[in-house]
Amino acid sequence: MYTDNLNSDIQFLQGVGPKRAALLKKELEIETIGDFIRYYPFRYIDRSTITPIGEIRSESAYVQFQAQVLSVNVPAPASGGKMKRISAIVGDSSGQMELVFFKGLKYIQERLQVGSTWLFFGKPSYFNGRINMVHPEIDSPIVQGANDKSSGVMTGVYPSTEKLKNAGITGKVMNRLMSNALNLTLPEIKETLPDYIIRDKGLLPLKTALLNIHFPKDAYSLDKATYRLKFEELFFLQLSLLKQKYVRSRAEQGLPMPKVGKAFNDCYNALPYELTGAQKRVIREIHTDLKSGHQMNRLLQGDVGSGKTMVAVLSSLIAIGNGYQACIMAPTEVLSQQHFANISKYLAPTDVKVALLTGSTKASERKKIHQGLLDGSIGIVVGTHALIEDTVQFKNLGLAIVDEQHRFGVEQRARLWNKTVGGIPPHVLVMTATPIPRTLAMTLYGDLDVSVIDEMPPGRKPVLTMQITERRRYALNKFMKDQIALGRQVFVVYPLIFESEKADYANLEKGYEKLVEDFPFPPYKVAIVHGKQTNDEKNFNMSAFAGGRAHILVSTTVIEVGVDVPNASVMVIESAERFGLSQLHQLRGRVGRGSDKSYCVLVRGDKVSKESAKRLDLLCQTEDGFVLAEEDMKMRGPGDLEGTQQSGLPVSLNIASVAKDGRILQDARDYAEKVLESDPLLSSQRNEPLVQELGKDKYRRDDFSNIS
Ligand code: ADP
Ligand code: MG
Repeated sequence: MYTDNLNSDIQFLQGVGPKRAALLKKELEIETIGDFIRYYPFRYIDRSTITPIGEIRSESAYVQFQAQVLSVNVPAPASGGKMKRISAIVGDSSGQMELVFFKGLKYIQERLQVGSTWLFFGKPSYFNGRINMVHPEIDSPIVQGANDKSSGVMTGVYPSTEKLKNAGITGKVMNRLMSNALNLTLPEIKETLPDYIIRDKGLLPLKTALLNIHFPKDAYSLDKATYRLKFEELFFLQLSLLKQKYVRSRAEQGLPMPKVGKAFNDCYNALPYELTGAQKRVIREIHTDLKSGHQMNRLLQGDVGSGKTMVAVLSSLIAIGNGYQACIMAPTEVLSQQHFANISKYLAPTDVKVALLTGSTKASERKKIHQGLLDGSIGIVVGTHALIEDTVQFKNLGLAIVDEQHRFGVEQRARLWNKTVGGIPPHVLVMTATPIPRTLAMTLYGDLDVSVIDEMPPGRKPVLTMQITERRRYALNKFMKDQIALGRQVFVVYPLIFESEKADYANLEKGYEKLVEDFPFPPYKVAIVHGKQTNDEKNFNMSAFAGGRAHILVSTTVIEVGVDVPNASVMVIESAERFGLSQLHQLRGRVGRGSDKSYCVLVRGDKVSKESAKRLDLLCQTEDGFVLAEEDMKMRGPGDLEGTQQSGLPVSLNIASVAKDGRILQDARDYAEKVLESDPLLSSQRNEPLVQELGKDKYRRDDFSNIS
């Protein structure tokens, strides 16, 4: 009789039942027994390494030790309040250590009975002259001699939650349930990879890998199992992305743009500077796409100041030269205006008409632009997402460029696809200044072609970056005044974090008032821009600064994207510890664009967290956005990065990490490419298992060409 245990509801697994099943579903999103066996340990208790407390140093990495609870201290809560913390002293024959807990206190209190012995695992820290440990993990102790030889020396520890533990699903129970699940389902497990890939890559068969990942015999078999499962996961992710890209590029016809055209040449020949090698290469890559007869879907990455605007302009002119229109979308009003001003300048030597369309374009003007786009008299339109409203119709939109793409939703991009010419959608170029580590880009944008501008225009001066605290405010003011006396301008940026918006606005206001006091009019002029102003106010202040009429621009992060004021030589970032690394880097990119020596001053609190301090140090050490992005990813590690970014990944990852498994990822991508090269539609018999796996729900993505 055929039974399908893999797809049965988790409640039917021996030892689970409806109550626990509900929890497993809610807490861990485990619905079936098949899901359960794909829930892997995040670490292993290695019974062979237990460190005596006396040998633990504060700088040790994670350690495991076994100790008896000697005393537990539960400070009385403030009247009516809740328990805030628990500390316990534990000891073994070599010494004692304090453990501190802030969360799950009831559970901790119940477990840590004085006299009981536990296996602890955690990272030691140094506090008040002593070594302690905050929130170690707690497991049943290892009993000498009672070690079940058949289970090996390593026991899997599964990610868990307080609720699961409270419901009795402890580490031990998880191990037992997993053993039940594997016994039940192993005979049913089908290999997901074709034989030839298993052989070619020297992988463990899936059954063996699953058995070993949960119950490893030794470190070697665990490594093999881990590799097999990571490879499988990343391989299918890449295969699904590449297949989609492949199918789309075949299926979607592209508007043919074989020529370069007169407008391109007129603009090119009048350029005030020579394009960088990288700019030239990228324009060639784009033109190759535009000529190909297939639709272009390309991501252009380039650090702030690398000259993406010029690439956008010249690409647009190729579209024009072939009889089509182009649009350039920016995320903000201010940025659209700036683009418009720059682009108009570049287009002066051509006869191409360019228009600006944003939310604040007056109705009469808007009507004219709509008309011009419909009859084709306007060649290029620059603007915010007002551009993609349904009322905007083009005669023949051939190329859509999206600047700072991370600010646009997929849905907004999708609207572009409706602006078709005879049913053929425009080519799409998305530009981003946020350097993304290569491995992450491969995954986030795996279905796009990627071009990188990896070279800065010549003559860029390095920006001297330094950090100071409030104590040096006076010196900072003096420095700003010196720079202003030299004819330079200064940005002052305040953090604006969504959760603390109110307090942040208050800080901004206070900072502004203080600045106006320290830099009185006359002679000083201080402008301010923030999100609560009307568009008119914003524009007035922005253009006062851009036009050189204000010396200082105080703002929230609205200036983060794009604005170009070459005369600004100082970037002051207040409460710098509250910004992320890539944000800080973006902000710093606003200066150093002119010929003057430029500075970035990070004003930080006296006491900042270790991570913040490291971020600020890194920023002072390098200006390479890709290095910073890599470091950022490493620093935030799988926890943060994957907590937040993973949701942006096309498929959620169970075991592999984009941050840590770069090499396997590259390998998996290369291999997926190879497979598709020899069998683009995966129609051969031997690739049948691949088609099976890709048919699963989790690989079904919304292709944005299909969203209306
Ligand atoms: P991005 O949008 O990539 O941050 P921009 O396109 O705003 O960068 O360019 C930054 C500055 O560099 C602009 O002032 C632009 O005029 C200038 N620029 C662009 N390309 C070159 C080049 N090849 N040589 C010199 N300056 C350039
Ligand atoms: Mg730009």
